[in-house]
Amino acid sequence: MPWITGWFDARPYFGINFPIRRTQCIEHRLCQFCRQPLGRRIGLVVRPADITAGYVEEPAMHPECLDYAVAVCPMLNGATDQYRAAPPSAVAELVTATASRAGKPAEAYDAWYITPSGYEIAYSPDGSVLGISLDVPVLMKRPIRAAARPRLTDEQTALLRQVLDLEAVTFVESILDAPGDTPS
Ligand SMILES: [Zn+2]
Repeated sequence: MPWITGWFDARPYFGINFPIRRTQCIEHRLCQFCRQPLGRRIGLVVRPADITAGYVEEPAMHPECLDYAVAVCPMLNGATDQYRAAPPSAVAELVTATASRAGKPAEAYDAWYITPSGYEIAYSPDGSVLGISLDVPVLMKRPIRAAARPRLTDEQTALLRQVLDLEAVTFVESILDAPGDTPS
């Protein structure tokens, strides 16, 4: 069980982190998975949105802890295509940025590996910890999973059905209109 994972009612909520533990990990260079100090190789799980932001909100991991997380986490290993629905309100209070991901299709995840000298904390103007900076030398980047295809909304499904029905009708009409097929 990752140390950072939030618990509510004796139940772990994967993907929902204890905000205090998140900050502790980042500030004290701890692995979010095993809580031990990070070593000479530091693994980060990076989404395209993180690259845009310039930092990852999630704390780092030992490379072996990252491998283990990928092996067991359905979001990281591609077994699930959608983030869990919004958690119960009591849990939602624990949620940091995860709320915005609720119910959305999974994003692409890459693993980035950096060294201790490349470990930089990104702070907001008010001094709070945003995450770990990505604007640093990276030893290696490795894809973990591809993005899931977005699910169609009800509206899009209805539209698609209309188009398909329309095509079916057009197809039938073209058969009926075809010369030679009509009995004379
Ligand atoms: Zn670890």
